[in-house]
Amino acid sequence: MKNIFLSILLIISQLCYSQNNQPWQGKKCAVVLTYDDAYNQHLDNAIPVLDSLGLKATFYITAFSTSMQTRMNEWKKLAVKGHELGNHTLFHPCVGGPNATWLKPEYDLRTYTVQRMVDETRMTNVFLQALDGKTKRTFAFTCGDMKIGDSSFINAMKDDFVAARAVRNQMHKINEIDLYNVDCYMVNGETGAQLIEWAKKAMETNSLLVILFHGVDGGNSLNVSLSAHSQFLHFLKQNEKNIWIAPMITVAEYIKKWQKNNKTAKTNN
Ligand SMILES: [Zn+2]
Repeated sequence: MKNIFLSILLIISQLCYSQNNQPWQGKKCAVVLTYDDAYNQHLDNAIPVLDSLGLKATFYITAFSTSMQTRMNEWKKLAVKGHELGNHTLFHPCVGGPNATWLKPEYDLRTYTVQRMVDETRMTNVFLQALDGKTKRTFAFTCGDMKIGDSSFINAMKDDFVAARAVRNQMHKINEIDLYNVDCYMVNGETGAQLIEWAKKAMETNSLLVILFHGVDGGNSLNVSLSAHSQFLHFLKQNEKNIWIAPMITVAEYIKKWQKNNKTAKTNN
C-alpha cells in the first residue's frame, strides 16, 4: 500500500515537473521574431520566407516611416496573414547625443514631455487600429529609451499595451519575465549558425527568446544577411515540435495568464 502511495506521489511530482519545466504550450521554449522600424526589406525579404514557412512574426511599426507612407496596403496585408503590427511610435524619437547624429532635433526625447510621448504613442495605436482593427497591442521602445528625463513613460501607458519590448540581450524563464521590459537579442551581422545557437540556448534553459531584426539584406546597418535569416527561420520551423513560435501579442498574453495563475496558486497554498 505504501509503495503504491509512493508511486502515485512520484508520478504526480513528475507530471508537475514536466508542466513547470515546459510551460511554453508544452514546448521547450518560445521564440518571438520581431522586425523594427518598418523597412521595405521586411516586406520584400523577410515576409516571403516567413510566409513560405507559415511562421508568424511581429513588425514594430514606426507610423511615419517612408515604407508605411508609400506601401501602406502591403503592411495592412501582413495583419490579414496573421502577423502582428506592433507599436514603435509615430516618429521614432530617441535620446539624442553624439551617438545619435542621425536623429532629427525635432525627435530628440530630451526635448519631449511625457505627455507628448504618450499622445504620439496613443496616436500610433489609433493608426494601427485603422490598419488591422485590433485593440490589443504590444510596444517596442525606440533605441531602448524608456525615460523622458527621469520619468518612465510606459507607466502611463500600461493600459494601452499588453507588453513592451526593450533591447537587453537576455533570455528568461516564464516566471522571470517583466512584460513591460521584455528582453531581446538584437541581430547585428550574426551568421545563421550563431542565431541557431541562441535558439538552442533557449531550448536548454526553457526561456523566451525574442529576436530583434532591423535590416534584412539592407534597410539598416544593423543587418542580417538573406542566407542567415533564412537558415535561422528554417531551423525554427524544423524544430517546431520543441519551439513555440508566435507573435509577441500571443506570447505576452500567454505569459500574463501564466503569471497570474501561478500567483493565484501560490496565494492559495
Ligand atoms: Zn527602432
